[in-house]
Amino acid sequence: MTIQQPTPTATPVQRVDLLPETAPFSGEQRAWLNGFFAGILSLEAQQAAGTQGIATAPVAKSTDGDDGEAPWHDASMALDERMQLAAGRPARRRLFAAMAQQDCGQCGYLCETYADALVAGTETRQNLCVPGGKETSRMLKKLLEETASTAAPSSAPATAVVAAPAVPKPAPLAGYSREAPVAAVFKGATPVCGEGSQKDTRHVVFDIAASGIEYVPGDSFGLMATNDPGLADAVLAAMRAPADFPVQGPDGVKTFRAALIEDYALGTAPDMLFELMSYIVGGARRQKLKALAKGQDPDGDAATFDVLKVLETFGPVHPDPEAFLECLEPLQPRLYSISSSPLATPGELHLTVDAVRYDIEGRQRLGVASTFLSDRLQAGAPVSVYVQKAHGFALPADVATPIIMCGPGTGVAPFRSFLWHRQAQQAQGLAVGRSWLFFGHQREATDFFYRDEFAGLQNSGVLTRLTTAWSRDRTPKAYVQDRMRDEGAELWNWLKSGAHFYVCGDAKRMAKDVETALAEVAAEHGHMSAAGGRDFVAEMKAAKRYQADVY
Ligand code: NAP
Repeated sequence: MTIQQPTPTATPVQRVDLLPETAPFSGEQRAWLNGFFAGILSLEAQQAAGTQGIATAPVAKSTDGDDGEAPWHDASMALDERMQLAAGRPARRRLFAAMAQQDCGQCGYLCETYADALVAGTETRQNLCVPGGKETSRMLKKLLEETASTAAPSSAPATAVVAAPAVPKPAPLAGYSREAPVAAVFKGATPVCGEGSQKDTRHVVFDIAASGIEYVPGDSFGLMATNDPGLADAVLAAMRAPADFPVQGPDGVKTFRAALIEDYALGTAPDMLFELMSYIVGGARRQKLKALAKGQDPDGDAATFDVLKVLETFGPVHPDPEAFLECLEPLQPRLYSISSSPLATPGELHLTVDAVRYDIEGRQRLGVASTFLSDRLQAGAPVSVYVQKAHGFALPADVATPIIMCGPGTGVAPFRSFLWHRQAQQAQGLAVGRSWLFFGHQREATDFFYRDEFAGLQNSGVLTRLTTAWSRDRTPKAYVQDRMRDEGAELWNWLKSGAHFYVCGDAKRMAKDVETALAEVAAEHGHMSAAGGRDFVAEMKAAKRYQADVY
């Protein structure tokens, strides 16, 4: 999940020159080092600011000709376009542009600070950007190689750019980062879609009473899932490797099978695995593996290769288990928007998750964490979890402020949290503001999850308006943004009265379309030009009245 910052610009640049002009560095090196030391000096202040969970320390703020703008910071923009916008800028900005721009926090940083940490050498893992996947890690690798080969001067320490002195990262607070998870107890994952739905969405409940973690609406929940043991067994069979072969895992020696289930990603095949296999097999297979390892797609099937398909397509092979594991990516935590309110269900935390299952060439592929929750966990099982504090996605500070929420599909998750929170606040005697939810999904009969809850929230007066869009109940399709246009006059009234606008869900298309629709509504009903409507939305973002949680 992602929290998009309301404004896509970085902090204004301040020039700090700590190195004298006579220091034995080129202008570019001096600029970089000045920025680096400025980052260190600002770290203490950042720590005092007390950001939980995400590493935010900017290591190398700009004294290097960078204007501090980040026009690529848009999750719907393609990588090529982002890299074009960052062309000619310092390495740390180009690395920033290579991230998926979701600021989701899954890597333990924001996109910008992950880039800074890589350039400073305080972070060496190039594969942490989950939404960016291989595309991002390939670009990071390329950029870091270029940086190392062009920037290290003969007169300066060779490590100046890629392995600068380590900036100490604040010790992670237990339960608030991927580095310091705590245990929560899984209670269940109840299906919420009706018979015949094309989705299998689950309402997931955790008991967090003993975990020590706290959250507010808008926060996300990270969890450490494990792989389907059936998939691990298929990998073992394809390699004809013994399940009990001892291997060194991150926490000590364990069996090969346990390592495959607990520690390594078995999804998208990493380039390193293609590379390893290309040394083992020959002929045309080697040529194809070499091409795949370079990110090429000679037969148009690159996207279909998971770890098992590589072994089955190019095998039989018997790589050494430890060499094989070294080629895999570590299994990463997964983040979901929290769909409960701590006031309404204290001691519990809820998620709304689609169980991801799809077929490729007759074999079912499973989403790791979603099917871990829906199929593999038993009630009562402990799970390693953490709260990812939201950055720029929260209920208004004033409970009386009206809110408009747009959340198709499981994008409704944080808005269930918002509404239950306001319901609990109303029960405490507070005068909560009006709420309007735009919810869309495929079919009303099967996909209107939380229907009864929303009816109850309407009855209690917390949910003032509920507008739905059922895309597959009619032709042509109607989406939430179409319903926003239909209700444009009233929507404009709410905006004029100071309502905050929220969108959650798909980053690539939906969020963009919703933003466009809002600008059009403002233009039409606010009697502005099209550009005026877009400016209106930009001003809402700047005022933090337009907030997005998208991925
Ligand atoms: P989905 O099936 O992708 O879509 C839900 C509805 O949105 C369907 O009716 C779909 O219509 C419609 N839709 C498709 N394209 C659209 C567009 N451009 N504009 C507006 N509506 C559009 O829903 P989902 O699978 O639940 O996915 C929701 C998204 O939310 C995912 O990207 C997920 O990653 C993200 N998300 C989830 C969470 C969470 O905590 N679970 C939190 C934040 C974000 P058709 O399919 O009929 O075209």
